[in-house]
Amino acid sequence: MGSEKLFLESIEAGYFTNFTAQVTIAEEDKVVLDRTLFYPLGGGQNWDIGTLNGPNGILQVSEVRGRDDIFHHLGQGHQLEVGDEITGKIDWQRRYEHMRMHTAQHLVSGVVYDNFNAARTVGNQIHTERSRIDFNPIKFDEEMLQQLTQLTNDLIDENHAVSDQQMTRSEINAIMPPERTNMDLLPASVNNLRIVKIGDSLDLCPCAGTHVKQLGEIGHIEIIGKKSKGKGTQRISYTLNEGDISFEANNKVI
Ligand SMILES: [Zn+2]
Repeated sequence: MGSEKLFLESIEAGYFTNFTAQVTIAEEDKVVLDRTLFYPLGGGQNWDIGTLNGPNGILQVSEVRGRDDIFHHLGQGHQLEVGDEITGKIDWQRRYEHMRMHTAQHLVSGVVYDNFNAARTVGNQIHTERSRIDFNPIKFDEEMLQQLTQLTNDLIDENHAVSDQQMTRSEINAIMPPERTNMDLLPASVNNLRIVKIGDSLDLCPCAGTHVKQLGEIGHIEIIGKKSKGKGTQRISYTLNEGDISFEANNKVI
């Protein structure tokens, strides 16, 4: 059956923090819910933390994993049982940092592909304080890093909207090369995908993560590290300065 992924319903859904759900699987130290706003580790983005408020009080969620069934790690002795109704709350600060960092990753990956000989993103790790992206094939010098920073920050200043929609493989490939979107790496059986779009087709990316609604929320990126990972791969680390625009969580219980 799996868990309904409430954070995936729209870009706006990423701003919700409170939800109700029912326990569908209860294990010693973790539970699965029929629906959840908790983002599980995946696609390079780290998991959400927060609380579940159940019949026996408030429990801390320390880790969230899974693709179909999403497991909320609570520790031993949580006392939740199948069928229990809970109210969940995710930690907004951590989620919002991930949304800003993740949207910045889409931008940086696009700028690198467009400006540095179609170098591809081969890995990424999104955290709150600093995030990293691996590119191949590439050999960044100081000038390239400055150019990358400038081009990315210029796009942020243009404050393009971020939206999502379902698209077919051929629709996506008609707009952007499959090497740029990594569509060529997806199994041929996958035809319908959730696409995260920046501006009017400025960037397209099949993605199940959480993102901000407009680029101005990111603030400016600063590249703080470069590391060679061998075989033509280099890793860039970046951090974000506070954006001019900032949204609060939507506290409505969904
Ligand atoms: Zn994404």
